[in-house]
This record gives sequence, structure tokens and C-alpha cells, in this order.
Amino acid sequence: MFKILRVNMSDLSVENQDVPERYRGLGGRGLTSAIVADEVEPTCSPIGPSNKLVFAPGLLGGTNCANSGRISVGAKSPLTGGIKEANSGGQAGGYLSRLGIAAIVVEGLREDGKLYKLYVGKNKCELSPADDLKGLGTYATVDKLKGAYGEKVGFAAIGQAGEWKMPAASVAFTDRELRPTRHAGRGGLGAVMGSKGLKAIVIDPAEGELAPLTDQESFKAAAKRFAKALQEHPVTSQGLTNYGTDILINIINEAGALPTRNFSSGRFEGADKVGGESLNKVTLERKGNPSHGCMSGCIIRCSGDYMDENGEYFSKWPEYETVWAWGPNCGIDNLDAIARMDRACDDFGIDTIETGNAIAVSMEGGVKAFGDAAGAEELLAEIGKGTPMGRILGSGAGAVGKAFGVRRVPVVKNQALPAYDPRAVKGIGVTYATTPMGADHTAGYAVATNIMNVGGELDPLKPEGQVELSRNLQVATAAIDTAGLCLFVAFPVLDMPDALTAIVDMLNAKYGLSLTADDVTALGQKVLKIERDFNARAGFTAADDRLPEFFLREKLAPHNVVFNIPNEELDTVFNF
Ligand code: SF4
Repeated sequence: MFKILRVNMSDLSVENQDVPERYRGLGGRGLTSAIVADEVEPTCSPIGPSNKLVFAPGLLGGTNCANSGRISVGAKSPLTGGIKEANSGGQAGGYLSRLGIAAIVVEGLREDGKLYKLYVGKNKCELSPADDLKGLGTYATVDKLKGAYGEKVGFAAIGQAGEWKMPAASVAFTDRELRPTRHAGRGGLGAVMGSKGLKAIVIDPAEGELAPLTDQESFKAAAKRFAKALQEHPVTSQGLTNYGTDILINIINEAGALPTRNFSSGRFEGADKVGGESLNKVTLERKGNPSHGCMSGCIIRCSGDYMDENGEYFSKWPEYETVWAWGPNCGIDNLDAIARMDRACDDFGIDTIETGNAIAVSMEGGVKAFGDAAGAEELLAEIGKGTPMGRILGSGAGAVGKAFGVRRVPVVKNQALPAYDPRAVKGIGVTYATTPMGADHTAGYAVATNIMNVGGELDPLKPEGQVELSRNLQVATAAIDTAGLCLFVAFPVLDMPDALTAIVDMLNAKYGLSLTADDVTALGQKVLKIERDFNARAGFTAADDRLPEFFLREKLAPHNVVFNIPNEELDTVFNF
């Protein structure tokens, strides 16, 4: 029987609870959002005692299904003020499932400024003091914890940004090599963890076991079909595997949709120097591994090892969005500098998308020049030191825009836009505007259809059909996030009907259900309704489902287009 672990930071108690009936059939994002919506007062302070931080593996976690070990983290967001779910790879999700834990709910907070760590094992769950970890980055935190707990565990941790409650702070999770390189990055969830005085979680899978299956043979057969689909689709078997997500730099640049110098152009002259092909080349030259899975059971392996100039491991491959945030968006074309900033963000525990945007906005405000890589690294270092400038930058792009009087501030619900300009990829613009999460490409990845012709074709420059595309993808994504699957499985799911059927078959075989594909759609819709309802109770209205004005007024080169989907159409996205 799966349990919910309730961790109260006010009185330092840890208790097990049976999963209430109303949460049955939910995992991952579905479960974090349902608990936050049920138990958190929507108007509360995100860094106050009433907020709750929820960790939940997905419905397919702890099984042999490929790419199924994601972990969702949810709370009221310090960045957006609305509901937030951010999910991550790494080992934590799979380990929690093996321990029979459906969710960890962290409640209350410490008033005494002391830090604690949580140990989660098969027969013991306890809080203990962690003041020796105070002020440490995630790398040093994990090193110290490894000394105490060994190397057969997984860790979640915050860095300095979380301790200082910066609204862009992330929660780090360790990968298979115990490096804190995977992050629930968006929306400031690290600040919620920091506000509670929880520095780290140690997850010890010893004596854990694979999740029970109602029908083992059917599950095995469906898992095999699903893996076959991942291994046959060109995106998940070749593109991502060889070049990582950074393969998108040249593709999106070619499409004229690569936001450059704070969203002032759609093409970057230095794109090729920082694209996936260059990342692959420099990795092979430096004898690194260009194909690495961030969690057990990943057969796509979109990550890689970034080696320094001496051929030593330095960091994981920066994701496309990270390369973009520090690269084209800041006018920087130096991969080594980008990798250094990615590692620094992992160490401070701060979101690369939000922080790269914050520094690009500060560049527009005259703090440094676009293209000044050393200047960007100096600014990022301010965040790690917690200086007043660092605190402003760590508060996200919206706060930086206000501090430096910048008009072009790319945020929705105060969360910075990712790496696709919505004027030239209109489907993703609909997702940015309307998802309950604030601007988030992963909430409904219309780029797949608009640019890559996956799941059909739809001209990215035309407004027609984009609302329907985003709606369908937002619903499907909410279900995928609930299952705990890596979002990249969406490529075969969109193109190969049997990939979706295999997921449904696995859910049925695991839980003894008889779901249909329509039931999975209904699950995604249910999750979105829960999230939208929370945001409405927090005070959000249709006026919050809009892109910033400059996207509607300033034409984007090279296509000279604006975002032109009428508000009335945006307001129909959730008509289901
Ligand atoms: S495909 Fe990439 S993000 Fe997904 S699980 Fe594998 S390495 Fe992690």
C-alpha cells in the first residue's frame, strides 16, 4: 500500500498516512496539484507557514517502463503566486516509488532559522539538524551528505538561492552519478523548501522493491512495445540521443524564432557556435560521453558530459533552453562560458531560464553589454554571494525589469519565457499565455507540430488552429506529467498510435484498470481544472492569460510578425 509521508517542519514530526481515496489514480503532477489545491490557502504567502511543498513520483514510477522515473514538485509559487508543478529527472522519483511513497508533503516552517535534512528509508524516516550545510551550494552539500550516507542513495537539495528564498530558486536532484545536475527549476520551489528550513532530502532505496503489478505479463508486453516506439522514432533514437536538446538551436534559428538579445530578434549570428552539433563535436574532441541518461531506465539519453578544456568532467550538457538563455538571449556565443554558467546555476540552485532572462533584461537596462560573457558571469556570481544585486537578479526577469526600468520584459504570470519566440511559433505562444504555470514550454509543446511536423503540420506563423493545438497538448502533457514520464516520450506518442496505447495498457496492467485513451485525456483535463481553479481562487483572471504587450506591437525579424491570436480565442483554450 502506497503512503503519503507528512513532514511537519514546525514541530519536526514525520508521519505516514494512507493515501486518501480522493487521491487514488493520481501521481506526479496530478497528485502534487491536487494536494496543493486541497490543502494550501490560495492567497497565502508562498514562503509562509501555510504553503506546502509536495514531492510525488508518477503513476508509472518504480516499474520497468522506460523513462518513467520523473519526480514532480508542487507548491504555491513564490514567482507566479499561482499553483506550480515542476518536474525533474534524476534518481529520486524511482527511489520513492520503490519505497512505496506516493508523496512527501512538507508543511509548516522553522522560525528559528535552523536547517534540517530529511532521511527517507524503508523502515525509517526522520529529520535531523543540517546547520553544517548552511550556505553551501548543491555540489558541496551532496559531497558532505555522501560522506554521511554513502553513494547508494539519492539526494534532493537546495543551494544558496533556496536558503535566501529567491523566487527563481530551484530544487536539485542527483543523477545516477550523484551529481546535483537535475532540477525542478521553474517557479521558485527551492525558495519554498528554504523557507521551511529543509536543506536536503536523502532517499535511501535499500530494501525497496519494484512497484507491484496487477498483471505482470501484460505490463511487460506493453513496456516492450513502448520501448520499441522510443527506439524507432527518429527524435528519441537519433536527434536527442546524439545532439541533446541543444540540437534545437540551429532548427529554431532557421525558423526565425530563436529569441536573441532579450527577444529583440529571431535569429542569432552565433547560433552555430552554441548548437547541438558544436556541443557534440567539442564533447567528442575532449573525450566526453555525448549520450547520457539522467535516470535509470532512460533509453533516450538526451544528456551528455560537458568536459573542460583539459578533458575533465565539468558538468552535464546544458539543455537547449539553458544554452539559449545564456547564449543567444544574452548575445553570447561561447559554449565554455555557457557551461560554466549552467554549472553555477546548478550549484546555487537557481533556474537557468529565469536567471538567463533576468540577466538579459538587465543587459537591456544597461547593467552590462549584450555579448559580454565575463560580465554575465560576474552578475551570476552576485547571486551566489547574495549581494543586493544578486538578490534582485535572483528574483527573476519581472523584478529585474522593474528595478532597471526595462519595457521589454518577457514574462507571463511573472515567469520568464523559454527559448521560442511566440511571434514566430504561435502555438507555443498560446501555451505560454494560458498555462496555469506561467510561461512554460513544457506545459504544451506546440513547437513539435509547428516546427518539427511531429503530430501533424501547422504553419507556425499563422494564427489558425493554434488554440486547438495548444489545448490538446496541454491536456496530453498534464497526463504525461501525472504518469511520471519524461516529456520527450511525447514525440513517439504524437506520431505513433501504439505508443499511447502502450502507456494506457501499462497503467491498466499496473493498477488492474480498464482505462481507454479517452480516460487518459479526461485525466489531463481534470488536472488542468484543478490548477485553474486554484489560480482563480488566488485571484487570477483572464487578464493574466496574456502575453506582454510588446509581443503584440513589435515585429520580430526575420519574418516581421507579431503575436496576433485574439484574446477571445485565448479564452477558449480550456473549453472542455
Ligand atoms: S531523455 Fe533526457 S531528460 Fe528524459 S530522462 Fe533521459 S536524459 Fe533525462
